[in-house]
Amino acid sequence: STAEFPARAPQRLKVSFEFSPPKTEAAERTLWETVTRLVPLQPTFFSVTYGAGGSTRQRTHETVARLKKETGVDAAAHLTCVGATQGEIDDIARAYWDAGIRHIVALRGDPPSGMGGKYSPHPGGYANAAELIAGLKKIGPFQISVAAYPEKHPDSPDDTADLENLKRKVDAGADRCITQFFFEVDDFLRFRDRAAAMGVNAPIVPGIMPVSNFQSVARIAGLCGSKVPPWFAGLFEGLDEDVETRRMIAATVAGDLCRRLRDEGVDQFHFYTLNRADLTFAICHLLGVRPQ
Ligand code: FAD
Repeated sequence: STAEFPARAPQRLKVSFEFSPPKTEAAERTLWETVTRLVPLQPTFFSVTYGAGGSTRQRTHETVARLKKETGVDAAAHLTCVGATQGEIDDIARAYWDAGIRHIVALRGDPPSGMGGKYSPHPGGYANAAELIAGLKKIGPFQISVAAYPEKHPDSPDDTADLENLKRKVDAGADRCITQFFFEVDDFLRFRDRAAAMGVNAPIVPGIMPVSNFQSVARIAGLCGSKVPPWFAGLFEGLDEDVETRRMIAATVAGDLCRRLRDEGVDQFHFYTLNRADLTFAICHLLGVRPQ
C-alpha cells in the first residue's frame, strides 16, 4: 500500500553515508559525483573509512576535510588502533581536531594479513576501541561512533561478551553504534533489545549494504562473521551476467529491509555506499527521504 512507502517520511528519517577514500583520479571523480547526488538528502553525516593498518591515513584525512569544507555536512573520520602507538594515533586525532573534524568512528581494526588472523595490539598502542575512545576524549570532546555486531563479532566468545564490549564503548563515550551489515530484520531487533536490556544507552543505527554483487558480499561476510541467508543467495541465482537485474534486486531487497526496520521504530540508517549514489539514493527515495 502507499502507506508502506510514504511519498515523504512523516517524521524525517536520519541518514548517513559511508565512503572509502578514492585511490585514483577516476575514483575521486566518481566519489564527488556521488557526493553531489547525495548532499541534497541532507545526511546527518558522511563518514570515510580508514584502510587496513592505517594504509589510507593521508587520503582519509584529505577526503574527510574536503567533504566537510565543500558540502558543509558533518564529516566523520574512521580511525583504528592497528599498527601505531598511542602517541601516533593521538597525533592523527589532534590533526583532525585542529582541522575542525570533530566526529570519529573509533575502531579497533583488523590484524594485518600475515598475522594468522589473530589480533594482538601494537606495542604501546591502544588495545581496543574502548581504549581508543578514552584516548580521544582526552584530546577533545569528539563526537564518537562505534561498531556493533548484530550477529556477534567473530573474536567474541559469545553474544553477552560482545554486548559487554559494546557497553564499555558507550560508557567510554560513544554517542552512536553503527552495525555491521546484516540481512535478517530479526537479528537486528533481537540485538537492539538485548543491548537495551544491558544498558547500552546510545542509538543503534543499522548499517545498510545494498548488495548487487552476491559473490563479493558472500566473501566479505565470511570475513566479518555476517551470515548470508540461503534465501538471499537464491535471489541472485542465474544473474551472474545480468548486472541490471541484480541492481534492481539490490534496491528492492535493501529497501524492504529498511522499510521493515522503520516499521519497528528505527529512525536512522547508515549506508555503505561503496562510493556509488544510485542504489542508496533509490532506497532513501523509497523511505521518503527526498532532496530538500
Ligand atoms: P572492539 O570493539 O575493540 O572489539 C573487537 C573484539 O574484541 C570484540 O569481539 C570484542 O568483544 C573483543 N574485545 C574487545 N575488548 C575486549 C576486552 N577487554 N576483553 C575481551 N574481549 C574484548 N575496519 C577498518 O580497518 N577500517 C574502517 O574504516 C572500518 N570501519 C568500520 C565501520 C563499521 C560501521 C564497522 C561495523 C566496522 C568497521 N571496520 C573497519 C571493521 C572493524 O575494524 C573490525 O570489525 C574489527 O575486527 C573490530 O573493531 P571494533 O572497533 O568493533 O573492535
